[in-house]
Amino acid sequence: MSSTSRTPLIAGNWKMNLHTAEAVALVEALKPAVAGLDSVEVVVCPTFTTLYPVAQALKGSNIALGAQNAYTKANGAYTGEIAPQMLQDVGCTWTIIGHSERRQYFNESDALLNEKLHFARKAGLKVMFCIGETLEEREGGTMNAVLTRQVVEGLKGLDAAGFAGTAIAYEPVWAIGTGVTATSQQAEDAHAFVRKLVTDHFGATIADALRIQYGGSAKPDNAAELIANPNVDGFLVGGAALKADSFAAIVKAAAGVAV
Ligand code: PEP
Repeated sequence: MSSTSRTPLIAGNWKMNLHTAEAVALVEALKPAVAGLDSVEVVVCPTFTTLYPVAQALKGSNIALGAQNAYTKANGAYTGEIAPQMLQDVGCTWTIIGHSERRQYFNESDALLNEKLHFARKAGLKVMFCIGETLEEREGGTMNAVLTRQVVEGLKGLDAAGFAGTAIAYEPVWAIGTGVTATSQQAEDAHAFVRKLVTDHFGATIADALRIQYGGSAKPDNAAELIANPNVDGFLVGGAALKADSFAAIVKAAAGVAV
């Protein structure tokens, strides 16, 4: 079981999916399915256009609202971008930063992601900061160097208060949306490596408290085994978060509830 001192964090990344009616229907189905599961923290991250209606639908539930991205400025001439403060204005308490799709398709660099992380945390938004290696990097033997760079550069300058509202999502790129999940051992090895990196660069107190989520084809049938590892503290879920029953089953596995 994930360390009892770290509350499992399970977030659904809906990516660029679901129009308003579908998004609201999903949370209406999800709310009763995860009600009362208070030993875990549950977040959904819809598209920008559905944040407001989803926020209304989530009122009174134990599900928090997150965004999928946030910019480095509070306002101004930044066409197409969105400020952490605007996300908070519609009810977000979380945002994802540095998803591999942002890194890959939108060329987001470690330096930009570090800036986004700092700006979101200063605004009071909590952050799920994504890292992870490609298959080429894993097979080519540079995985540890890549994870080290993403952690050291991406989290540079973050203090204890910044870390208190930050989780790391370890998402091997080869497992995202592919149906190929990291084995339980591969996930635990990577999470332990990341926690050691954080210990070495930011100190043991911060590293011990830090939640490290696993992401990459997490499903109801592998969630219990993955979360049983001492360094796996939850999930960032893509495909399986688009259906209430599969996302709720992952939440229940993280809460230690038999399904
Ligand atoms: C993700 O994109 O964060 C993700 C983990 O996707 P999937 O669960 O579909 O692999």
